[in-house]
Amino acid sequence: MKVTTYGTAGSLAICRANRTVHGGNTTCLRIQSDCLQPGLALAVDAGTGYYPMSMELLREGNISKIITLFTHYHHDHTQGLLLAPPTYIKSIHMELLGPVDQTVGPKEVLETLMKPPFHPLDSVEVKSHFSFMKIDHPAGTVLVFHPEGGKKKMELDEFQRLEKKWNLIPVGEGKYPIAECLIVKMIKTAHPEHTISYRFEERPTGKTFVFLTDHENTDGISNALRDHISGADLFIGDAQYDRPTYEARTAGYGHGTGEYVTRLGEYCGVGHIWLTHHDPNADDAKIDAILAEANDARTRSETVVFACKDMETIEV
Ligand SMILES: [Zn+2]
Ligand SMILES: [Zn+2]
Repeated sequence: MKVTTYGTAGSLAICRANRTVHGGNTTCLRIQSDCLQPGLALAVDAGTGYYPMSMELLREGNISKIITLFTHYHHDHTQGLLLAPPTYIKSIHMELLGPVDQTVGPKEVLETLMKPPFHPLDSVEVKSHFSFMKIDHPAGTVLVFHPEGGKKKMELDEFQRLEKKWNLIPVGEGKYPIAECLIVKMIKTAHPEHTISYRFEERPTGKTFVFLTDHENTDGISNALRDHISGADLFIGDAQYDRPTYEARTAGYGHGTGEYVTRLGEYCGVGHIWLTHHDPNADDAKIDAILAEANDARTRSETVVFACKDMETIEV
């Protein structure tokens, strides 16, 4: 499994002279796995980083479908969708999945954001090659990807029953061994809106990646959050602020600190931790200082902590 970070800025896309190392585009990741059908690209969020990701997919030339998993619908996680070329290329099937918040799911997000006077086109112009899937109960839902079967959404209970009894799972036209699948599990984060953290388990390789953006420091760690992160080979967490800023000014905004992400990762047995959702107000030196604070919070010398940059590919 490979994870490419196309957008790692939080809250607002930013371009300035003292912010050239760390992210300028807002959240967008691509997950690459041999468990995905040929021609399928899997993305998380469509911040402004969705645009450079799309351009790279078009250069690859063999993409027929893009599945985008939304964590939530704040503007910094949706805006890239409006101007990414695949949104207008009818031969590319665009599927949007995401939470339901105040009756708004991925379909309503597209309809709301893509219409005049906010945008020159109405969503009806593009909808013929879009499909949508709501995730009503993230913690009780599993997504299954198989290279031949495609994708399936199912209840966690049913997945666990099949896993225990048969180890086979119906996806698309056939039944396949769970050991051949990419399994995506979910949990709600601590954020003002209904927001999902995704856990990707690539069963053939045993590799796991957890993405926890737009999540605020919590007092204590719930068993559900611990289980969600446990055993991850790569953990990317929201570290928008340093601890003094958080305590003085930004507690309650729904974002975390680097030292919290380190403590959380280590508590869950993760040794490979990356920080994301960088504050638009931070220059590169400030992000390096947040990284240093995160490194100081390590209790194990073998733990490695990095700060995400845009357009970087991480081997899980
Ligand atoms: Zn955000
Ligand atoms: Zn947010």
